[in-house]
Amino acid sequence: MSQMLRLLRMDKAVQLSGLSQAEMVSFVETLGEPGYRGRQLFAALQHRRLRSFSLMTDLPKDLQSRLNQVAQAGTLKVESQYASTDGTRRYLMKTIDGLPVETVFIPEEHRDTICFSSQSGCPLQCSFCLTAQLGLLRSLTAAEIVEQIHIALNDAYGTGVKPPRGTNLVAMGAGEPLLNLDQLLKALRVMAEPQGLHIVPNRVTVSTAGVVPRILDLAKTSDRPHLAISLAAPTDELRNELMPINKRWPLEELLGACKVFEKTLKTGERLTFEYVMLEGVNDSDEQARQLANLLNRHNITAKVNLIPHNPAEPLPYRPSNDATVERFKNILESKGIHTYVRRPRGRDIFAACGQLAARQTTLNSRIESNLVGANN
Ligand code: SAH
Repeated sequence: MSQMLRLLRMDKAVQLSGLSQAEMVSFVETLGEPGYRGRQLFAALQHRRLRSFSLMTDLPKDLQSRLNQVAQAGTLKVESQYASTDGTRRYLMKTIDGLPVETVFIPEEHRDTICFSSQSGCPLQCSFCLTAQLGLLRSLTAAEIVEQIHIALNDAYGTGVKPPRGTNLVAMGAGEPLLNLDQLLKALRVMAEPQGLHIVPNRVTVSTAGVVPRILDLAKTSDRPHLAISLAAPTDELRNELMPINKRWPLEELLGACKVFEKTLKTGERLTFEYVMLEGVNDSDEQARQLANLLNRHNITAKVNLIPHNPAEPLPYRPSNDATVERFKNILESKGIHTYVRRPRGRDIFAACGQLAARQTTLNSRIESNLVGANN
């Protein structure tokens, strides 16, 4: 199909994976079909994770072909996928208009975590993140967000097979989720439905570089996901350099918004601060004390996740070594801050935080040999 035709098709066709069950019922009614067909269609897409109408054999053939003309069951296409030695899987996909989307599946002992993208590329210019180099291509639709989860689960367990463990979601792939909040919340509502994936917002963490007005909006949202804030620096001076968004919403404003958000936390829920550790840049004892003082001064009950920097070829940083990370952690803990060190997953296939958008050509031959069959 030519690019032109494909775009035309995208404009006209409804992306069904972004519809709730109630919307699906209304949609089939506009086609003159009874409401129960909408419920069937919703279950086929969201419960059985079928990605084409021809697989929905409980729908009449003529309805399948009408749907083919006006709607899309699956829009994302898997271009390639990689498996890490630690079990992590990384998917490089393309939208219908040819833009890259990346998703990472991380198996853990008791649950699986799927790290999904909210945008193709990213408009923020964080100096330590590879996705920044793409710039923003566009925000993803709710359907494109939901489909990433379908594709990862189908690949891990088989189409339609119930996952043996629960699924956690993190919006920590490419993009700034709070710059696509409407579609993100839409996707989360669809995924929460019990007749579908049934992944509730309590299983979802959204990570932001600090879009203050949207943090305040999220605080007012009922059934909201958990929130993580990427800090990366304890002072405005350094944060301006590493995360230019700080010039728009500096630390005082950001922590002010966190304070408002904190009031909405449920029992046992905590705000998370992520701190990527860059050797010789933000990992000194003095910076650990500054970070502890910053959080304590605002009296925020949070935990800190230290993320050793995941290197990627064009980025001018190295990860802090284990001893430095440990010392940084001890300083924070000595000042009463719960601190965890996040173990990098899937580094060998460029699936770790901040490594998304690594071009295939940057993957070495060892990784190429890990290539597993594509598309489903
Ligand atoms: N835009 C959102 C979500 C995407 S980044 C945000 O900024 O939070 C998800 C996490 O990965 C962030 O905490 C970010 O600081 C971290 N990260 C980015 N690049 C990284 C890298 N190269 N190594 C380790 N962590 C990185």
